[in-house]
Amino acid sequence: MEDRKRVKRPRGVAQLISGKCIACGARCQSSCPKDAIEMNEKGEPIIIIANCIGCRKCLKVCPVDALEIYLTPEEQKILAELAAQKKVAAVEEAPEVIEEEAALLVKLKEYRGVWVFVEQTAGEPAGVSWELLGVGADLARARKEELCSVVIGDHVEHLCQESFVFGASKAYLIDDPVFRRYLTEPYYKAICYLVRKYKPEIMLVGATGLGRDLAGAVATELQTGLTADCTGLAIDDRGFLLQTRPAFGGNIMATILTEGTRPQMATVRPHVMPLPAKDSSRKGKIVREMVPFQEADIAVKVLEVIDERKAGEVDVAAADIIVSGGRGMRAKENFSLLQELADELGGVVGSSRGAVEAGWMPAERQVGQTGKTVRPKLYIACGISGAIQHLVGMQDSDVIVAINIDKNAPIFEVATYGIVGDVLKIVPSLTQRVKELRAKGVEFMVERH
Ligand SMILES: Cc1cc2nc3c(=O)[nH]c(=O)nc-3n(C[C@H](O)[C@H](O)[C@H](O)COP(=O)(O)OP(=O)(O)OC[C@H]3O[C@@H](n4cnc5c(N)ncnc54)[C@H](O)[C@@H]3O)c2cc1C
Repeated sequence: MEDRKRVKRPRGVAQLISGKCIACGARCQSSCPKDAIEMNEKGEPIIIIANCIGCRKCLKVCPVDALEIYLTPEEQKILAELAAQKKVAAVEEAPEVIEEEAALLVKLKEYRGVWVFVEQTAGEPAGVSWELLGVGADLARARKEELCSVVIGDHVEHLCQESFVFGASKAYLIDDPVFRRYLTEPYYKAICYLVRKYKPEIMLVGATGLGRDLAGAVATELQTGLTADCTGLAIDDRGFLLQTRPAFGGNIMATILTEGTRPQMATVRPHVMPLPAKDSSRKGKIVREMVPFQEADIAVKVLEVIDERKAGEVDVAAADIIVSGGRGMRAKENFSLLQELADELGGVVGSSRGAVEAGWMPAERQVGQTGKTVRPKLYIACGISGAIQHLVGMQDSDVIVAINIDKNAPIFEVATYGIVGDVLKIVPSLTQRVKELRAKGVEFMVERH
């Protein structure tokens, strides 16, 4: 120990490896804790040697390894001797950086457990909340931590028990008339109060209209990271939530990490995650909490709620059978062929964005990245090419039947059954066959895989 104190460990200074910098946007400069990097007009770093402490932060953020540590020959010799005597590891961080990172780690470790916000309207839960408990259980298991639900509303205690049935072992409950109707301010204040008090490591919210509004307000207030519309959630062994979502118009899948703040927040659209199995015998603990603000402090009041949903409006996201059409249907009137098949099967008609943009179908029927995410038992894709933005919205359907004239259409890559041919001929014959079978008393059942 005494030896270690006496020997000064050389750390060197950062230097640029000529020709390697790609001028990525000064990540190295913003990572430097000592203002030791300036950028030249080409966007390459200039190291201010007098300020550099050899902490290696800039080396870590450089995407092309264009920086290295320079040690004088004398320093190299000292370091080699110390390493040989096992007094230092060959590469070490500067003490200031170790302290900073250690303090951050201690802070992050205070946050534990996985929380799922249970969305409800007049006491009716949104199904996505239970879907999130399924993926939340996997994350909690991986972290060896608790899975908890957060239930806020008026007369909503029954949702705590329902959350236990779907996998939560504890429910944080704030039950008060002030939460009768959803408003951003009281809800985000209640959640922030709970988060500050109980410090969850991960918080999941459904990417519904309400959930998107709430999660954004909570993340802003808590100054933490939020990834919207995740299609995949996993955890690594450091406890980072790996939040995967489509980026750049759906052409790549990006995995996003919240490195320095907690909780790690993500929203997930309905039907993206499977519904977990129910276990009615499960019980859990309810933690009752008070309303953390005065009602008079809430600036907005709801005077009236007007339901503008049109009578007969179809919710494709809730359907078990969807017959969906794309540009290959050729014309608006041909969608009646799809309606006939859907009627025979007891399903609804969906559409690609191509068909919506052509004015053949209303936007609320669109399936895909900017439409609805669906997970029906049967999805029949008629004249749909299978662009990635469409696939992300339907590829988890139990059975996919694709009808396309082009045998190389990407839709066939996700299809359970593929039919190569003209949709305008195939759909009427399918409808006819279904009619015949039903006339013979054959019942239609689509089994889950
Ligand atoms: C940011 C962004 C978000 C997007 N979001 C969505 C989204 O949510 N949902 C979505 O669907 N798209 C979305 N898109 C658009 C997507 O990229 C595609 O352009 C769109 O899905 C194409 O629709 P389509 O398959 O109907 O048309 P096309 O790609 O034109 O495909 C038509 C298909 O019909 C076939 N066909 C033609 N005639 C026949 C016939 N007689 N019989 C059988 N088959 C026939 C063709 O071989 C072709 O495969 C998005 C794009 C972007 C950039």
